[in-house]
Amino acid sequence: MSSFERVRTLLSEELFTRTAGRIAVRQLVELRSQIVSLYALLSVNACALAFTHLGLAPAWLTLGCPAVFVAVCAVRTLHWWRMRPEAMSEAQAERHLRRTTILSAVLSVGFVGWAMALSAHGGPYEQGHVAIFIAITVIGCIFCLTHLPLAAFGVTLIVTVAFLIHCLTSGNGVFIAIALNTTFVTVVMVRILANNFRTFITLTRSQFEAQRLAEENARLALSDSLTGLPNRRAFFNELEAMTDASAEAEAPFALAIFDLDRFKPINDTYGHKAGDRVLQETGRRLARFTDAGVSVARLGGDEFGALIRLPADGADVTAICDRICEALRAPIRLGETLVTAGCSAGLAVYPEAGRGAAELFDRADYALYHSKLNQRGHTTAFSQEHENAIRTERAIEAALHSPDLAREIEVQVQPILDLRTNRVVMVEGLARWTHPTLGRIAPDRFIAAAERCGAIHRLTTTLLRRALSDATRLPPGIGLSFNLSSHDLASAETVIAIMEIVRESGFDPRRLTLELTETALMRDFERACDAITLLRALGIQIALDDFGTGYSSLSYVHRLPLDKVKIDRSFMADLHAPRGERIVATILDFCRNLDLPCIVEGVETEGQLRILRRLGCRSVQGYLIGRPVRMTTLLERLDEIEAGAVEERPAPRLIA
Ligand code: C2E
Ligand code: CA
Ligand code: CA
Repeated sequence: MSSFERVRTLLSEELFTRTAGRIAVRQLVELRSQIVSLYALLSVNACALAFTHLGLAPAWLTLGCPAVFVAVCAVRTLHWWRMRPEAMSEAQAERHLRRTTILSAVLSVGFVGWAMALSAHGGPYEQGHVAIFIAITVIGCIFCLTHLPLAAFGVTLIVTVAFLIHCLTSGNGVFIAIALNTTFVTVVMVRILANNFRTFITLTRSQFEAQRLAEENARLALSDSLTGLPNRRAFFNELEAMTDASAEAEAPFALAIFDLDRFKPINDTYGHKAGDRVLQETGRRLARFTDAGVSVARLGGDEFGALIRLPADGADVTAICDRICEALRAPIRLGETLVTAGCSAGLAVYPEAGRGAAELFDRADYALYHSKLNQRGHTTAFSQEHENAIRTERAIEAALHSPDLAREIEVQVQPILDLRTNRVVMVEGLARWTHPTLGRIAPDRFIAAAERCGAIHRLTTTLLRRALSDATRLPPGIGLSFNLSSHDLASAETVIAIMEIVRESGFDPRRLTLELTETALMRDFERACDAITLLRALGIQIALDDFGTGYSSLSYVHRLPLDKVKIDRSFMADLHAPRGERIVATILDFCRNLDLPCIVEGVETEGQLRILRRLGCRSVQGYLIGRPVRMTTLLERLDEIEAGAVEERPAPRLIA
């Protein structure tokens, strides 16, 4: 081991460790808070020593040198006082520390040389003062240089070695003792300083680590782990920042929500792993649109959001969103297969659609809902028309909670005809609501409003009670078909209430059919299955309504204990075309093969009826047979309806 290494281990490794990077900046910050004291201490001590030697030593020693020292100290103090270490780069801080270490060595040589030069003048008291000056000044320096241990060590080494040599050569026992004593004390102090510095470094490193972890946590809390995109929280943070900024300086921007059209069926068919791959690929494609003006995020599930600063060139923001939809529409490879998730978007522009973050989001969501309904795969921008519709919907929601609802609402019935017997075998109950100020409100509209505002349980039970009470007037051969909302089966409370109402009504449950739509089943398939089993145990029949309009009708027909299906009226529009006829024929065959009775809805013309008879259709419903009317009217016209079926239409070819 070299002597240098021995000294190094004796004192402490930390003393010589070159600190770098962010620690250097921190060192400089700490040093700055003490360095002013150091220069003050040096100046005061130098003045005191010069004072006791005034007249005893030459003027250049008692006045000239101290003046230079004080001037240097003042300049350095000013320099440190102006310094802003927090704003420095790491390299700058390191350079500064190096320069300070060198300067401290130079200054110690100057001070100790000066003190020794003075000790040649004056008597024993003055010489004693020199010794005290050197001892207290070096100890003071060690303290002030705690955060720059190499400099502290350099100062100690220079001063004590010089002082030791000076005293040893003087041959004066007292001075030799003072010098040895000072050396011992300073060595101990340097060791303590080195230990403290080690603690400082450990602490600073753990602070940096804690800061890094906190930053990492903050980053994770704001990003979506599956796609790597910013998450919902990050999206809303940015949205709020944008609404705040735009409130001060009008800077229009748009909020878009993108929702995959076929994510659920893909997830159901290919599994969750495939679903995740679709979301990841969607995230990747969306990320390509990110730039200074566009930021994207995953809002949850298969819903993504974008904030678009409106381009100054007035580019159409709807067109930008349509481009994004188009990119998301491109097929995605899942192993051997290609799937197309498709995407619809809703758009709300600040400030037209709203000024608050929540308001803008709700409006974009509203526009998205309209895209899904009316133009899948495209973007709908929130408009004044939507604004008016929202107002009406709010009014409808309020009216749904009114105590007068039960008086304003009624159930009309529409006949369903058996084409083999030309008899009405069933009536479908259809809700009608005439509000004193809002006028007639279409059932699909107020049912949807009731679902949204939580009034559906009350509405369904009110309507069912009314329908069953009317249905007791029907001849025994005619059953009642009643529509359930998609929310009803998901609520155990509603299912129990339905069973109770049927029991109380005295209407034979075997004459009752409940119509469900695919959305009711999609909401919570297991629950819906359980509810259906319960209801069927009472003898109630279950029909799948609007068959053929959803994505998975066929799979539900297989998986559910159904009693019948109702073919959606949209198929009637093309029935006259060969292709349309073939589709309906295929559906009818499909049902026949499964032994599943089916009713064709929306029959409006004699021509359609003729084709349906030819295809072997058994039951029909539609304006041609009869429009929805009050129960009393239907009962009055029953004979007329059945007679019409026999007289005006050719006798049915009976096909089982
Ligand atoms: P839906 O269950 O498919 O009912 C059939 C709809 O088609 C009724 O519309 C009916 O008036 C109409 N319709 C019947 N025949 C024809 C035809 O030949 N041509 C045309 N173009 N339309 C025909 P409505 O009464 O407006 O009801 C709309 C939807 O509202 C219903 O569709 C059903 O989903 C819902 N709804 C109606 N009443 C109730 C109810 O009491 N409860 C629940 N949950 N939903 C109901
Ligand atoms: Ca129906
Ligand atoms: Ca229907």
